[in-house]
Amino acid sequence: MLSNKGQPVQCPNHRGHCTANVSERESIGDEGKYNEVLGDLISQDIKISNFTCDGDSRAIQGVRKSHGHNVGHLRDLRHLGNSLKRELNKAPFSKGMLKGHSKCNIRSRFALSVKARCIAELKASHKKLQGDIITLKKVMVNIISTIILCFNGYCGTSCAKYSYVCAGTNRQAKNFMPNNVKVKMVDSDQQVLRKCIEMVLGPAALDATKLLTTTQKCEAANRSYQAVNPKSVTFSRNCEGRIHGQVYKLNNGYANSVIAKTMELHANLTQGSKVIKQLAYEDRNDLNRKRTSATIKARALRARTRNYRYKLHEELHYGKGISDPKPDFEGLPHLKHHKYA
Ligand SMILES: [Zn+2]
Ligand SMILES: [Zn+2]
Repeated sequence: MLSNKGQPVQCPNHRGHCTANVSERESIGDEGKYNEVLGDLISQDIKISNFTCDGDSRAIQGVRKSHGHNVGHLRDLRHLGNSLKRELNKAPFSKGMLKGHSKCNIRSRFALSVKARCIAELKASHKKLQGDIITLKKVMVNIISTIILCFNGYCGTSCAKYSYVCAGTNRQAKNFMPNNVKVKMVDSDQQVLRKCIEMVLGPAALDATKLLTTTQKCEAANRSYQAVNPKSVTFSRNCEGRIHGQVYKLNNGYANSVIAKTMELHANLTQGSKVIKQLAYEDRNDLNRKRTSATIKARALRARTRNYRYKLHEELHYGKGISDPKPDFEGLPHLKHHKYA
């Protein structure tokens, strides 16, 4: 693929030494091709039987091209949850369901609550049933009905009986929604909500998430590659070196990788010097941040901050009523025939 490595790529019109490695016409977001090439590269050592990816279907097609058509297609939980939220936001619920509130905001908070509840139920039931997918599909039917009841204001016996998350004490029912909102679902609303929830908890979705895999680790690794290869800069000469350096750092830790790299360059650092002390300090910080107790603390803090912000926003919005000015299109003659308002 590389011009620098002997393969001919037509140079559009570069001055000096040309470092182009793909033709100008090539699409750079071609997940299918990348995964096919990568699949070929690793096929000697690894046989892929299940492949987890986001909503992009080209990726799995690429993998199947190199590893056969029996490769299982699993869905990433995060992406699936976000699709659920998106669909809930534009689903055809009746006007009266979330009546009397600044609709957009409440609606997205409703979507957020349903998403959180579904993901929580999925994880909890997996844990309880130890991934037994057949039983899971059976109990999920009741769980879906229970979630709908719970959000419709009937949190109680069915939650206590079927839900793995809500004890039936009304505490889970609202989640991210303000306390004064009443959800009133008519029949059609319940059907719409059920269809949406089935995106995550329906039988097909349960199959696609049976191992509860996510792409979080991949995304995290990609994010750290971006730190040394930002999108806005093209490192035509040392892109690969930068990536390798970052991989080395991720595997060995910051201090060790710096020491190894400087030794390799014969620029040895003096023992006990300020530089070494600083390295040790940064390394300690790094380790502390990665400790489990630290991540749990950080998660709790994030939840607290989020709740606090939601509360604040509630008081602002529903206490006084926002009176932003709105444009008045009434008097414009050429808009008379349209119903813009
Ligand atoms: Zn060129
Ligand atoms: Zn409940």
